[in-house]
Amino acid sequence: MKRRERVVVVGGGITGLTTAYALEKAAKDIDVIVLEASPRLGGNIVTQHHQGFLIDGGPDSWVATKPYATDLAKELGLADELIETNAANRKVYIAHDGRLHPMPEGVMLGIPTEIEPMVKSELFTWDAKLRMGLELLVPRKSWHDGEDETVGAFLQRRFGDQLADRLAGPLLGGIFAGEADQISVRAAFPQLVAAEREHGSLIRAMRLQMATRKKAMKKGKGPSAFLSLKRGMGDLVLNLAHRISGEVRVDAKVTAITRTDEGDPRGRFRVFSNGRQRIFADHLVLTVPAAPARALLAPIDDAFDDALSGFDYASTATVFLAFKRKDVDHTLDASGYIVPRSSGRAALASTWVGSKWEHRVPSGQALVRLFFGGDGREDLLALSEAELATLAERELAEFVPLKGKPLFSRVFRYQNASPQPRLGHLGRMAKLKKELAKISGLYIAGNGYDGVGIPECVRQAREVALSIHRARASLPFATAAELSADRGSILPGD
Ligand SMILES: Cc1cc2nc3c(=O)[nH]c(=O)nc-3n(C[C@H](O)[C@H](O)[C@H](O)COP(=O)(O)OP(=O)(O)OC[C@H]3O[C@@H](n4cnc5c(N)ncnc54)[C@H](O)[C@@H]3O)c2cc1C
Repeated sequence: MKRRERVVVVGGGITGLTTAYALEKAAKDIDVIVLEASPRLGGNIVTQHHQGFLIDGGPDSWVATKPYATDLAKELGLADELIETNAANRKVYIAHDGRLHPMPEGVMLGIPTEIEPMVKSELFTWDAKLRMGLELLVPRKSWHDGEDETVGAFLQRRFGDQLADRLAGPLLGGIFAGEADQISVRAAFPQLVAAEREHGSLIRAMRLQMATRKKAMKKGKGPSAFLSLKRGMGDLVLNLAHRISGEVRVDAKVTAITRTDEGDPRGRFRVFSNGRQRIFADHLVLTVPAAPARALLAPIDDAFDDALSGFDYASTATVFLAFKRKDVDHTLDASGYIVPRSSGRAALASTWVGSKWEHRVPSGQALVRLFFGGDGREDLLALSEAELATLAERELAEFVPLKGKPLFSRVFRYQNASPQPRLGHLGRMAKLKKELAKISGLYIAGNGYDGVGIPECVRQAREVALSIHRARASLPFATAAELSADRGSILPGD
C-alpha cells in the first residue's frame, strides 16, 4: 500500500498556514503538519479585544492592489467581512517642522502626479518644488547587470533631496520600518524601476496609473488602497487554521533538521521539534525568518550558512493609546501621520484607528497607534512597556493636542520581524534559490524573502504549494504503517 506523502511546514504565521491550506486544497492525498514555536498561531498577526476596542497589534490591513490576500479571504468565505478604510479619512499627514502637513493630493507611492497640490504644499521649499518638476527631464538610468541602488538614492536622483527626505523616503522606507537609504529599490519597489525604464519619468508613469484609477472610481469600484476584515486580521488566521485538516501544533519549536539517506522510504528529512519529537517529511517548507532558517539549515548543508546571511530584519514596537474622544483636540481626519527621520523625533509614524475603521473603537473614544524602533533605532526598544507608553503619549502630544490621560495603553513588540531588503537582496535571493534547488523537497517562503507584506506572503505560500504539487509524482513511497510508527517517536540519536 502506498503511504501518504507528508509535508512539514515550519512556522504558523500567514505564510505557513496558507501553505498548508493551499497544499491540502491542491491534493487530498497528502499529510500536512504545521509546527509553530509559540503558543499561538498567526506570527506577526495579533488581534485583541479590550473594553470594546478591536486592536490589531501588527498588520491591520493589506494593500488592495495585490490580489493574493483578497482572493484568499474570499476563498475562505470572508467576502462579506472585507472592509475598506473610511473614505472620509484617507489622507495622510507628514510631521515636519513641528506640525502636521497634509500629504499633497495625487501622490502615489510617494510620487507626485498633480501640480497644484504640490505647488500649494508647505512641506517643500520653492527650489525643491522646481527640482521635483524637472524629474520629467531627468534621463533614465541604464542599469548594468546586477547593479542596485537604494530607494533614497533613486528618489534623490530623480526628484532631489526634499521629496526623498520629507515624503517619498519616509513613506517607502516606513513600509519596512527602515531607512530609504538602506533599502534596495530593485528588491523593494521594482515597479518604480520599471516605471523609469518604461516611461522615462516616474511622474509620467504615475499620472497614467492615476488616470486608470480615477476611471475605475468613476465606474463605482472601491478606491480604498487597503483592505481588512471586520473582525480584525486574526480572522484570516482563524479561518485558515479551521480549514486545515492536517495537524497544526503550537508550542512546537523546530530545533533541528537532518536529511535521511538517499531513497529512505520514510521521507527525505527528519524534523525535530522541542529537541525530542521526530517527524519524517518528504517535503519541508520553512516559513520562518532568515536567522532561524539559517540555524536549521546550515547543519544540513553549510552553503546555507552563507546563502542565508545578509538577510537583515529590524525590530519594532507598536504602542496603542486609548482616549476619551473629547480629550483629543484634533479632528483626526486622516489615517494618521508619518514622521520623517530627519525630524529627529522618536516615533516613526502614527495611525488613527477609529478614523480608519470606525467600528473598531467605541463611540466617544479614540484609539491611536504609534510605531517605534525600526532599522538603526532599536535602542528605544529597551524601554519598558510603561516607558514606551509614556514616550508614545509625549510624541503624540507634539502634533495632536491632548487634554486628558490615556484610558489604557497596549504595547506589542516585534523582534526581528521587519525585513530590510538591503542592496544586493535580489542577488542573495538568487543564490538562496540556487542552493534550495540542489536539495529536493526543501522550500523557503515568507516575510523578507521574495517580498514583504501579507499579499506577498500569500503569493509565495501558494507558489510553494504549487511547486510541491508538481514535484510529487517522482517521490519514493513507503507504507502507511511504516510512517505512523515513526510519527512523534523519541529521538534515539539517529
Ligand atoms: C508592526 C508590523 C506591522 C505590519 N503591518 C502590516 C500591514 O499593515 N500589512 C501587511 O501586509 N503587512 C504588514 N506587516 C508585515 C506582515 O506582518 C508580514 O509580512 C507577515 O505577517 C509575515 O508572515 P510570515 O508567516 O511570513 O512570518 P511570521 O508572521 O513572522 O511567522 C513566522 C512564524 O514562525 C514561527 N517560528 C520561528 N521559528 C520557528 C521554529 N524554529 N519552529 C517553529 N516555528 C518557528 C514564529 O513563531 C512565527 O509564528 C507588518 C509587520 C509588523 C511587524
